[in-house]
Amino acid sequence: MPPKPLPLATPTSRPFWEGLRQGEVRLQRCEACSAWVFYPRTNCPACLSPKLAWQTVAGTGRLHAFTLARVPTAPFFADELPQKLALVELDEGVRIPSTLVGIEEEAIEIGMRLVPVFEKTEGGEGVLLRFTKADAG
Ligand SMILES: [Zn+2]
Repeated sequence: MPPKPLPLATPTSRPFWEGLRQGEVRLQRCEACSAWVFYPRTNCPACLSPKLAWQTVAGTGRLHAFTLARVPTAPFFADELPQKLALVELDEGVRIPSTLVGIEEEAIEIGMRLVPVFEKTEGGEGVLLRFTKADAG
């Protein structure tokens, strides 16, 4: 099987990916209107200001939506079935497409609390942001 494709950092998104390598979730925040921004951009989607600053956040949130893909979305992912594809709403309000890990299918519920998982890629060159269930209590 060919190696899995990896995200490529751009000048705009590089701080996000470097944050993951350091075990941090970093989001942009608009200095003009205080909106949180994800995905990384050059201008605020709410007010178009170019003044976006990076801030480290907890990375905690809740499950907004999910699907279980029983047919791989690409051949590279055949070893991850079912793919637990998730849309995670961070506590700051932004939504991040990701994958759930370390959780049984039956335990997945909309609205459940999630915490970030920093998963090293094959070869260890990068880190991907996954999510898993927050500890009960
Ligand atoms: Zn703004």
